[in-house]
Amino acid sequence: MNLKGIHFLLTYSCNYTCDHCFLYCAPSSKGTFTLYQINQILNDTIKIGTVEWIYFEGGEPFLFYPIMLEGMKLAKTKGFKIGIVTNSYWATSVEDARIWLKPISEIGVESIDISDDLFHFDDKINNFARNARLASESLEIPTNSITIESPTIEEGIDKIHDKGKPVIGGGAMFRGRAVENLIKGLPTRHWEILNSCPYEDLVDLGRVHIDPFGNVQICQGVSIGNVWKTPLSKIIAKYDINEHPICSPLIKGGPSELVRRYNLNHEESYVDECHMCYEMRLKLIDKFPEFLCPKQVYGLDE
Ligand code: SF4
Ligand code: SF4
Repeated sequence: MNLKGIHFLLTYSCNYTCDHCFLYCAPSSKGTFTLYQINQILNDTIKIGTVEWIYFEGGEPFLFYPIMLEGMKLAKTKGFKIGIVTNSYWATSVEDARIWLKPISEIGVESIDISDDLFHFDDKINNFARNARLASESLEIPTNSITIESPTIEEGIDKIHDKGKPVIGGGAMFRGRAVENLIKGLPTRHWEILNSCPYEDLVDLGRVHIDPFGNVQICQGVSIGNVWKTPLSKIIAKYDINEHPICSPLIKGGPSELVRRYNLNHEESYVDECHMCYEMRLKLIDKFPEFLCPKQVYGLDE
């Protein structure tokens, strides 16, 4: 296993409720890490031996700014590179954004990803992302923009033979709330050709996301263990795709294999692999509760 990155979902809570959110985050979402828990996981991460990067994301991690900051300090002290992902709601002006970012730059953060699109800011004159980017660059923090646009239909793509490539432009992933809000009117593909997982390496994990409930997720809502029951280093060392009831069919034949393996009812076609995978997982959630969790990222109550 060549695991390079641990991504803390510091909190599921977010001040926004974006249409494309694949974790179904909202202001009322439950679950936030404590500093003690972050430290516990970082100490165990050292034992894995291959991890270089620790990311803090959410939800919106800046909602828990002091804990994010202390978590970053802990990660830095233990020798990791640090990244953050934020929607930049806090960047009300460049000057004020610098105040938020100065302590972060002093820690020596290697990357900040800033959401900059109309899903997050439906008012075009909202300059939060721009303010955050300018402030971050002025403090010499390496800065990236994440831009997700409304789904568009790409021209000229062979829907049969280019399987694995998105036929829909815009960058939204059709999981979570995006399935509820964004798929209407989009072209679909026959379920039998949705026979691979195009976005995640399910065998040789490069990164995992860990949520405050302990779930170690290799795609949103697909868990390979719980760090509050088993140390992370053990979960990673023991991960065997052949024993995972969701990942083993996915690697054999993509979302369409979930249908065959578990004899699931299905539609004739779906927008893409993730759309079908998500819908099939919803049907399996009560059969495999420890592998398909937490329920809230499927828009369901616990
Ligand atoms: S996409 Fe990001 S900003 Fe939007 S609700 Fe989800 S976590 Fe919040
Ligand atoms: S939703 Fe399913 S098909 Fe899409 S990346 Fe995740 S595991 Fe792969």
